[in-house]
Amino acid sequence: ADLEGAAAGLLFGSGMAAISTALLALLRPGEHILMQRGLYGGTSALADHSLQALGIEVGYTSGLTVLDFEAGLRPNTRVVYLETPSNPLLNLVDIEAVANIARLHGAASVIDNTFASPINQNPHRLGIDIVLHSATKYLGGHSDICAGIAVGSSAHMQQVLAKARHLGGSCEAQTAALLERSIKTLALRVRQQNANAAELADWLSGRDEIAQVYYPGLSAHPQHELARRQMHGFGGMLSFELANGLDPVVFQQQLQLVQSAMSLGGVDTTVCSSYLTSHQGLSPERRESEGISDQLIRMSCGIEAVADIQADLTAAFAKTAQPLAV
Ligand SMILES: *Cc1c(COP(=O)(O)O)cnc(C)c1O
Repeated sequence: ADLEGAAAGLLFGSGMAAISTALLALLRPGEHILMQRGLYGGTSALADHSLQALGIEVGYTSGLTVLDFEAGLRPNTRVVYLETPSNPLLNLVDIEAVANIARLHGAASVIDNTFASPINQNPHRLGIDIVLHSATKYLGGHSDICAGIAVGSSAHMQQVLAKARHLGGSCEAQTAALLERSIKTLALRVRQQNANAAELADWLSGRDEIAQVYYPGLSAHPQHELARRQMHGFGGMLSFELANGLDPVVFQQQLQLVQSAMSLGGVDTTVCSSYLTSHQGLSPERRESEGISDQLIRMSCGIEAVADIQADLTAAFAKTAQPLAV
């Protein structure tokens, strides 16, 4: 709660426990939640299946602009839910503006701040009511725990705590102790992850093997100015598209130091292919409309020496470009 500038916080056994408990605390049957398009897959599955089954209306914005959020409001909207930077293309939502339209509408604003971490972005200070984290990612930082966090005003946390007592989802003591250990190095880790991501984004942008790089810290990112305004650091997550002719599966198989993994936020650099993992359930047409090509690789930057990562990527590019021995 201190890291996010909030009055109170609650610890859960997973990010999904924090997200589901907070949403069930805020919503009643017949009420509407307006969700940002392109959320973490577990969250949209929760909304589309469990929340809808309880008679809660679920709507998605058609895009990520403030006007898209305004257009999605209904008279019974009680929660506006956002996640910025978005996965996997690192698009941004204007947090302060969306918090304002939610408040004017009498709805609670809730954000999943996992991708940024509390070091890079503090949405409660920008007017968001409840900030959620999968502590499995940056807060834990070592890919060895599963936990979740919700922070906000004392009144909101009392409401979430009452629901948490019904649903369980508690965090056990050993995990809490590991998380407490991890938070001591959070700022150090995230600062290095930010620096590594910035350097790699710049380096990848200049390579022939790369068609496109997505990183809010690049001045070429369409929302770079917004990133400067609402983030303290640009984060450790970036994505890139391999040039045509380079197979993303073969590429990942060639990496030695960098591991393929779906999770993120740890001290080790990892990559994953969105179309084979988080967005595998979507039709090719839907993926294309969301801008997620088969050539897209998402990278979670760790704290290693950047030169080691560059050497690993360079070797993998070279091997991927060679015709495979039959
Ligand atoms: C991983 C993740 C979650 C879910 O967290 P768990 O701790 O795995 O339950 C939610 N939101 C985002 C953005 C995530 O990356």
